Amino acid sequence: MVAALVLLAASCTGEERTYQAAGLQNRLPLAPNPYIELPLGTVRPEGWLLHQLKLMRDGMTGHLDELYPPVVGSRNGWLGGDGDGWERGPYWLDGLVPLAWLLEDDSLKAKAMPWIEWTLNSQTDEGYFGPVPFETEPEPEPGIQKSRRRDWWPKMVMLKVLQQYYEATGDGRVTDLMSRYFRYQLARLPDTPLDHWSFWANRRGGDNLMMVYWLYNITGESFLLELADLIHEQTFPWTEVFLNDDCYGGAELDHLYPYNTGNRYPFDDSLIGRLCVEQLQAFHCVNLAQGIKEPVIRSQQDPRLEHLAAVKKAFRDIRRFHGQPQGMYGGDEPLHGGVPTQGIELCSVVELMYSLEKMIGVTGDVEFMDHLERIAYNALPAQISDDFSSRQYFQQANQVMLTRHRHNFYEEDHHGNTDLCFGLLTGYPCCTCNMHQGWPKLVTHLWYGTADGGLAAVMFAPCTVRTRTGDGTDVSIRQVTGYPFEEKVRFLISLPRPSAFPLHVRIPGWCSEALLSLNGRPLQTEPGGRMAVVHRKWEDGDLLELHLPMKTKLERWVEHSVSVHRGPLVYALKIGESWSHVDSTDQWGAFDEVRPSDIWNYGLLEAAVLDPENGFEFSVQAQAPGSGTDRFSAENPEFYPWSIDSAPVLLKTRGKVIPDWTLYREMAGPLPHSLPLQHLENEHSELITLIPYGCTTLRITEFPVVR
Ligand SMILES: [Zn+2]
Repeated sequence: MVAALVLLAASCTGEERTYQAAGLQNRLPLAPNPYIELPLGTVRPEGWLLHQLKLMRDGMTGHLDELYPPVVGSRNGWLGGDGDGWERGPYWLDGLVPLAWLLEDDSLKAKAMPWIEWTLNSQTDEGYFGPVPFETEPEPEPGIQKSRRRDWWPKMVMLKVLQQYYEATGDGRVTDLMSRYFRYQLARLPDTPLDHWSFWANRRGGDNLMMVYWLYNITGESFLLELADLIHEQTFPWTEVFLNDDCYGGAELDHLYPYNTGNRYPFDDSLIGRLCVEQLQAFHCVNLAQGIKEPVIRSQQDPRLEHLAAVKKAFRDIRRFHGQPQGMYGGDEPLHGGVPTQGIELCSVVELMYSLEKMIGVTGDVEFMDHLERIAYNALPAQISDDFSSRQYFQQANQVMLTRHRHNFYEEDHHGNTDLCFGLLTGYPCCTCNMHQGWPKLVTHLWYGTADGGLAAVMFAPCTVRTRTGDGTDVSIRQVTGYPFEEKVRFLISLPRPSAFPLHVRIPGWCSEALLSLNGRPLQTEPGGRMAVVHRKWEDGDLLELHLPMKTKLERWVEHSVSVHRGPLVYALKIGESWSHVDSTDQWGAFDEVRPSDIWNYGLLEAAVLDPENGFEFSVQAQAPGSGTDRFSAENPEFYPWSIDSAPVLLKTRGKVIPDWTLYREMAGPLPHSLPLQHLENEHSELITLIPYGCTTLRITEFPVVR
């Protein structure tokens, strides 16, 4: 159905196009992509992943209009009202729309459609769409972003919403609106550049750019390539900044807050030449999460190798200077170094996931897939409550107490010191609206079409993809798996007739050697960090089984601390939680505080760190529901794996309490350096339990090492 709609849309241009697995390959002169995104609805969630989406439906995603009416209620400017007219309405829709169509839920669609209809009908003769600009600026209202209605930035979000709606429904009004809007941009950007109304739009221009390429692939209108050049020119020069080697580190810059200094188009080359990722405060955390994809998006039209090289270097620098083990970085909100108590904003989690999903298509790069997996299966579930009713503005790798208190975050004085508390409005409410895109977009990007007419399983989770192969055969492939908690992924293939196509399967970089079996017989072994490709004439009922042996591995972080990893999961100290509700009535609303009911200041034993395979004992929780190979899969539709009580797997090891590692400002104090700590040599050790990071609310993830 979806495939047919996409074909129909393109056939209107009267041009022969190449389709791979019902996705849309780039149109010349854009470089062809190795992997091609599939339309919303092609991949459907099952098992724990389906249950996760149902929790969203029943929680904040399905009810945000009732929970947060001052902003996403009927006064919103994207519904024609005089209220909030900036990013938050589109943010919500960017998760609500894919959720509604993935679940085929009529009540969710009914919530989304008034926004879609109003937006589609809002376009003026000159091509503008979105909230109606005020003739005279209204009085400000606390908590509502009413003004800047012409800003290019929030329209970039709504373009992403409309794209997904189009891919699910084929509603041709979307491509008509975009075509007219992009002509309007081409006419207006020379006089009112991307950052005319806010600097956010020049940092996030890559989001605008990718939508221009998307439309170009459907309509082939040549002015779109001209517009793409203009948008790139007005977008913050991420490639140049990422490649800077001799960035300036002296006092002269220290007083600056580079992420929001001028830096407007046309950019100041002398300042651009001195910025780089390693500097504290260099970038806003969410701008970096969004901007990092721009060089790769741009490389489709400008295939210089330096774009990808710049992004690769940026990821290495982020890891080195600001990184945390769950795949994110300290940025609260400017970049803030590698201390594991610096905050990670939820918006940066979901935006970096989305950037990686886009970059996977353009590059086919397994490192990007591995990185997406690490964020999705560790950082994402940890920052949102189990019932999807509240979230943290910031999470920390070492997170032992969530109270309203001054910590060490750049922006906390503006946030009533509520950044760590679970609530609807704690910290800052952008994430309240933007968090919803994380899980639904992950579902869509579990599979891609391939340039050679096949399909690619780039992420593993219980799901089914239904699409069409290069020779036009309808195919359905079901992933039966308890991944990321088990080592095996079974691909069940259904076809009306035999069909030859390549099946690409990611072998993660963390896996030294994977085994592929076909119909019970070993087929081939594959080294990690690449895509395995199985060329074959597939038959109905074929079963391809992927076995990814998981081993306990350690990584080093600041102060020579270590984090513990096994396969896709990061493991963190299990800490008992004591929750208390605070009925606050100020602008940050009611919230929950969480205090530890267990000791948290453990170091890991040097002996275990030197021999992790023997130093950590892995086990599957006996109380995990179900049995056998379907333990975590569609057979258990109510299974929720991401809580301290339901953690499906765990590691046991021995640790020692470090008495002088104590609280500082109601968070874990500075990490003692791991020489290792020798002064505890004669103290006794205790058995401690580590569970997946995504199951924890309180945790130690970066451990000191003791002898
Ligand atoms: Zn946010």
